[in-house]
Amino acid sequence: MDNLLITAAETLRKAALNEDAKDFILNNEILYKTLKKAANRYIGGENLDETIIKASEQNNAGLKCSIEFMGESTRTIPEANAATREFIRICEEIKNHNLKSTVSLDLSHIGLAISRDLCFDNLALICSEASKNNVDVIISAEGTERTDAIHEIYTDALKTYKNLGITLQAYLYRTGDDFKELIKKEGKIRIVKGAFETAKGLSIPRGPQLDEVYIDYVDQLLQDNHSCSIATHHHQIQQETKRLITKYNTDKSLYEFESLYGIQTAQLAALKEDGHPSKVYFVYGKEWYLYLCNRIAEHPLSLFTALNDIVSAG
Ligand SMILES: Cc1cc2nc3c(=O)[nH]c(=O)nc-3n(C[C@H](O)[C@H](O)[C@H](O)COP(=O)(O)OP(=O)(O)OC[C@H]3O[C@@H](n4cnc5c(N)ncnc54)[C@H](O)[C@@H]3O)c2cc1C
Repeated sequence: MDNLLITAAETLRKAALNEDAKDFILNNEILYKTLKKAANRYIGGENLDETIIKASEQNNAGLKCSIEFMGESTRTIPEANAATREFIRICEEIKNHNLKSTVSLDLSHIGLAISRDLCFDNLALICSEASKNNVDVIISAEGTERTDAIHEIYTDALKTYKNLGITLQAYLYRTGDDFKELIKKEGKIRIVKGAFETAKGLSIPRGPQLDEVYIDYVDQLLQDNHSCSIATHHHQIQQETKRLITKYNTDKSLYEFESLYGIQTAQLAALKEDGHPSKVYFVYGKEWYLYLCNRIAEHPLSLFTALNDIVSAG
């Protein structure tokens, strides 16, 4: 049974990456509507307005939010600039609705795959608008072929924009060195396990070794009083982090627990109830297909939840 689920999930992940399959679904009204029923549990919506409503609800329940306009690997300058305008709109709307929310983004969505300068200029526009509105911006981690470029742009932009943070993937062996450099800088560090396939030998697979490495990064961040986000749904890691927070008497302004919208929500609610700063990460947009497939692939039992969502949404 386990093998069957894993095979199905892997197939889904491959299907998600297939551009023809994606276009087919996006252009087939019935398929699009059907699969969207399963995606709804994981996304803020197809547009910012829908997401603002869900984010307000989370704020009212005592949770902070992060909002991302979904997309990556933008191939043309007009698309990269359009995505940049949308991120600027998120900053404005966070202010207009008085939301407690940060903005998250993939640098390849705003031009990294086209040119470094275009990406840097677009990031500067977003950070500048965000800082006017007291909003923080966190850069996501992408595939390993982009890690160097992402860290370079982050380091440069941080010299001007103090409202900027970075995501580090605990599963990459290289993160040990990156972490040593980036913890010296002030920007917030969001620590995640890592979601992308990597070439052999570059990453630690899911399991006890990775969990240990993850907790070690958290330990160093808390010990150093470095602003950080503990971005995992792993219950044991969350519990161990709580113990470290008590040990170091960490100020609440310096850390937060962060979960993806729709995943292990009860755990995040319990952390919030315990008095820990907690945050829900929303993605929105029309490109939800890849996102849905990835969420199911990393937790194959969610296939059944997806089927149930499709059937019961009517
Ligand atoms: C706020 C946030 C930002 C992120 N940003 C990035 C990024 O920039 N780059 C990047 O590579 N990755 C990013 N990720 C994804 C991350 O790398 C992991 O792939 C993802 O969080 C799952 O790993 P985990 O830490 O929850 O641990 P896992 O070991 O994968 O899971 C631990 C437990 O969490 C639960 N769980 C995990 N996933 C699911 C699911 N889909 N459905 C239901 N339960 C689940 C299960 O109980 C599981 O046993 C982000 C994650 C979060 C929470």
